[in-house]
Amino acid sequence: MKKEALFKITYGLFVLSTRDGEKDNGCIINTAMQVTDTPLQIAIAVNKNNYTLEMIEKSGVFNVSILSESTPFSVFQNFGFKSGRTEDKFTAFENKKRAQNGVYYITEYTNALISAKVVKTLDCGTHMMLIGEVTEAEILSDNPSVTYDYYFKNIKPKPESKKTGYVCKICGYVYEGEPLPDDFICPWCKHPASDFEKLS
Ligand code: FE
Repeated sequence: MKKEALFKITYGLFVLSTRDGEKDNGCIINTAMQVTDTPLQIAIAVNKNNYTLEMIEKSGVFNVSILSESTPFSVFQNFGFKSGRTEDKFTAFENKKRAQNGVYYITEYTNALISAKVVKTLDCGTHMMLIGEVTEAEILSDNPSVTYDYYFKNIKPKPESKKTGYVCKICGYVYEGEPLPDDFICPWCKHPASDFEKLS
């Protein structure tokens, strides 16, 4: 079996956000899709380690901000490479507004906002799948949606090839040195040493 075949599936990139009590939080996800038209429902899949997921399970509402090709790497760093458990991702982030559900969405670099309330959850092991009924949907710009492939080719900084070390295939973090410890965990995206490859 060639597991890499699954890399051929196309994905977008999104900021998934929620608000629980007075706390706002968000993260980057690559899975969001429309599942039905009547009622209008979307599905998302989120890693269980994600604090945003824990908050959505309490609040029952979420926003999906669809990122466009104009999104700078700093947005992925802000929402994707830190944890909302220890850092506040929204206070210093300027390009935001509250949707009708009170949850922040991203107003810059995005082309659409979709708000939803959770109607079903499915435990998939490492991830939870959430089905949400759409409560608000707005178009924010005509910029093309960014794909995961476009992000890797055009937005994620390329590691410098002169260094000796290992690069995280998930987020691009570079570990300098030799060898990479077996129990190493990526400080940005928390993936294990098996998701690193040697710099060539
Ligand atoms: Fe990583």
